[in-house]
Amino acid sequence: MSIKSIDPTNGKVIKSYPETTKAQVVKKIEQGHKAWTEWRKSSIKERAALLRGLADQLHIQRAELARLMALEMGKPLNDGLAEIDKCGAVCKYYAEKGADFLQDQRIETEASKSYVSFQPLGVVLAVMPWNFPYWQVFRFLAPALMAGNCGVLKHASNVPGCALSIEKLVKDAGYPAHVFQTLMIGSNVVNEVIAHPLIKAVTLTGSTQAGMKVAAQAGMLLKKTVLELGGSDPYLVLEDADLEFAAETCVNSRLINNGQSCIAAKRFIVVKKIEKEFTRLFVQKMKQKKLGNPLEADINLGPMARADLRDELHQQVLKNIEMGAKCLLGGRIPAFKGQHAYYEPTVLSGIKKGMPAYSEEMFGPVAAILTARDVEQAIELANDTSFGLGAAVFTANEKLGEEIARTRLQAGSCFVNSLVKSDPRLPFGGINQSGYGRELGLFGIHEFVNIKTVYVK
Ligand code: NDP
Repeated sequence: MSIKSIDPTNGKVIKSYPETTKAQVVKKIEQGHKAWTEWRKSSIKERAALLRGLADQLHIQRAELARLMALEMGKPLNDGLAEIDKCGAVCKYYAEKGADFLQDQRIETEASKSYVSFQPLGVVLAVMPWNFPYWQVFRFLAPALMAGNCGVLKHASNVPGCALSIEKLVKDAGYPAHVFQTLMIGSNVVNEVIAHPLIKAVTLTGSTQAGMKVAAQAGMLLKKTVLELGGSDPYLVLEDADLEFAAETCVNSRLINNGQSCIAAKRFIVVKKIEKEFTRLFVQKMKQKKLGNPLEADINLGPMARADLRDELHQQVLKNIEMGAKCLLGGRIPAFKGQHAYYEPTVLSGIKKGMPAYSEEMFGPVAAILTARDVEQAIELANDTSFGLGAAVFTANEKLGEEIARTRLQAGSCFVNSLVKSDPRLPFGGINQSGYGRELGLFGIHEFVNIKTVYVK
C-alpha cells in the first residue's frame, strides 16, 4: 500500500510513498522511547540550541518547503514562505522562553522544600491536518521538544512529502536519532498507535469527528489529549465600526489559506443599519482576489486542498441557496483549465437558523452574512453555535468591544478590531466542539509535561 501526493490543480499523482508497516510502526515507537530515555536528560541549554538550529534549517530550506506545500495542497508560494517563517519563529520563541517556562516553581508549605517540577512525559503522538502542513506540526513540536518529549507524527494522507520533510528538518538540525519520526500511516492505524503503551499522550488538529474518535480511544486508555478542532468563527460588525477596515479584515480572515483555516472568519454578523454598506464593500473586496495556480506569483487563492473537500463545500453552498440564502458572488466551480479542486470566492447572505452556513463549518472560500437587529442579537447569534474557537468584534467603541470580547463571546480567542490569529506568545485553542487544551505560549508547553510535586520534609 502507498500514500499518494496528488496535485490539487489537476488531480495528477505527484509521488507515491510506501506506507509504514505495522511492525515498522511498533519499532519506531520503541526507538522513539529509547531515544527519549536519553533525550529527557538533555539540558535546557542543549535543547534551546537545537531548536535554534531547527529554525535555521527552516530558513535555509524555506523556498523548497513552500514549493512542496503548493504542490501537495495548493498554498500560494508567498503564503507558504510566511508559514515556514512562522515555524522558525515558534522554534526561536521556545528556545528563548523554555528555561523560564520549565523552571521549578517553589511553593511554601511546612516542608523544608516543596515545589513543582515540569518533567517530560515520553513519546507523544501528533495527528495533524493538511491545511498548514508545517505550522500545525511545529506549534506542537517546538514546545514538546523543549520540554524533553519525543514525537511521532501521523500527518494527513494528502501531504506525505511535507510529513517526511519535517523529519528531515529535525535530522538536519542535528537532533539525536528517533527523537521525532514520521509514520506513513492511514487514519485506520491510529487507534493501534494510541494503544501502544509507550505512547504517552496524543495531540490532534483536524475535524471535530476525527477529534472525537481519537479522544474516545485515548480516553479509554487514560492518555491525555489536546484537541484543536474546527470552528465557525463569528465576526461581529457593529453600527459604529470603520466599515472599510472591517470589510477588508473580514475578507482577509475568511480567505486565510483559501478559507481552509480553523480560525478563518466564517460567519459575519452585521447589525442591520450598516448591513447594506458592509455587504457592498465585502463583495467588492472578495471579487478582487485572484484565483489560479499557486506556483504563479500574483495569485491570492490556489485550489482547495482536495477535490472531495471542494465538492462537499459546493454541496453545502447549494443547500443554503435551496433553503433561501442569496448568493451574491461565486457559488460555482470555475470553468477554467485545470479546475480540479478550485472554487470561486463566494458570498452568501440572508443566512438563517437551519441553513448549513448557520451551524456547520464551511471549510473553503465561502462567506456567510447574517443580519442582527442590534448588538444584543449579534452576540446571541455569535454564541448560537456548537463551536467555540475564535471570534472578533469590530466597533469604534473599544471599551464596548473589549467587554464583548472578554465576557460575552463564547470562544477560546476573542479579538477586537482585528482578525483572529495564532501567535507563539499567546495560548491558542477552543471550547465546546472546537476542542480543549491549549497550544503555544506558557500554557502550551505545560500540556505535555508531568506537573510534578516534589516535597522534602
Ligand atoms: P480530518 O479531520 O479527517 O483529518 C485531520 C487528521 O486526522 C488527518 O491526519 C487524518 O488522517 C486524521 N484522521 C481522520 N480521521 C481519523 C480517525 N478516525 N482516527 C484518527 N485519525 C483520523 O480532516 P479532513 O482532511 O477530512 O477535512 C475534513 C474537515 O475537517 C474539513 O472540511 C474541516 O471542516 C475540518 N478540518 C479542520 C482543520 C483544523 O485546522 N481544525 C484542519 C483540517 C480539516 P487522514 O488524512 O489519513 O484521513
